[in-house]
Amino acid sequence: MKHTTCPCCQSADLDAFFTIRNAPVQSIIAIKSYAAAMQVPRHDIVLTFCNHCGFIFNSEFDTEWDFYTQGYEDQQGFSPTFVKFITGVTQRFIDKYALRNKTVIEIGCGKGDFIRLICALGDNQGVGIDPAWVPGRGEPNPNVRFIPEFYSQAHADLHADCITCRHTLEHIFETNDLIKMIRDSCQDASPILFFEVPSIVRILKDQAFWDIFGEHCSYFSPSSLAQLFRRNKFEVLDLSLEYDDQYLFIEARPADAVSDTVHPLEESVADLKALTRLFVQKINKHLEQWRVRLVRLKEEKKKVVVWGGGSKAVGFLTQLDEIGVIEHVVDINPHLLGNFIPAIGKQYVGPDFLESYRPDVVILMNSVYINEVRADLAGRGLHPELIGL
Ligand SMILES: [Zn+2]
Repeated sequence: MKHTTCPCCQSADLDAFFTIRNAPVQSIIAIKSYAAAMQVPRHDIVLTFCNHCGFIFNSEFDTEWDFYTQGYEDQQGFSPTFVKFITGVTQRFIDKYALRNKTVIEIGCGKGDFIRLICALGDNQGVGIDPAWVPGRGEPNPNVRFIPEFYSQAHADLHADCITCRHTLEHIFETNDLIKMIRDSCQDASPILFFEVPSIVRILKDQAFWDIFGEHCSYFSPSSLAQLFRRNKFEVLDLSLEYDDQYLFIEARPADAVSDTVHPLEESVADLKALTRLFVQKINKHLEQWRVRLVRLKEEKKKVVVWGGGSKAVGFLTQLDEIGVIEHVVDINPHLLGNFIPAIGKQYVGPDFLESYRPDVVILMNSVYINEVRADLAGRGLHPELIGL
């Protein structure tokens, strides 16, 4: 085990419980050639459980890997289903905390879709911080500016009424260091924090192996996330699960002392540990069922594609690509089109490609999008078997 203490609570009481051999260390970088894609290294992922706080992390994660300064592509805003979801979530958050005409900082803003949205909906001023930000994406908004850097103490002087951070914390190994740095930056100010991460509870319950991949080192449950915030003197105002329980949200604000108020959504460490045991019991059977299904499709000479690029496709193909039945991966993000998947080597195609390819089976990487994708396919005169994860 490369890391022998919990990055959240520093306990050394750890149990490694699940290993994925040779997973690509990167998943959604845009790579222009097959040769370059195949040079992306692979490394074992070892999911490790902290018996003290319930945090789950990849104890083999190498903190020297740099993912985010090399063409990182993570925009979800090309899907109407996602836009409707995130607009609703953001509007509710603005209403709940009267977040209008305020200043919002987003740590890990990606291409800036969310900071633009929260500023547009609430007439807010925004600062987006992310080394993967690039100019020229999205509608320009004079009230939003971007700092293309990793968040650090250098940004502590920025005033904020709200600090938001979506789908970033799971990429950070030293999670406690980041939350402590944010708390230190607050000093006497009292910004509302609004963070979003994938929920490990749903991954464990569904044996969602496609949601475990090299770029994610930190896997939070409601309780381990809330404890991390409380330990760093934040009061947890709310926790919620959204998007078929895939996404976990926390709302918090600085407190003078460590709070001991537990939210109803928080599970016990023992309950989460029991879920990891159940996951281990079921996962190999689940993977075997997929192998049998794909081998049968190959024997039947079916044309099979994966719909939905990015990390889930990499997580799925890491386990199942060797069967050799999946020829193409479809994505609606035009910035991924024509690029090659790290360490897997398949080239992304757009949905247009399917009109001539005419797949028999489409495996959808997130069943939240099943109606959207079924309608898109039907609009092209395609009615393949559609399997949603
Ligand atoms: Zn811990």
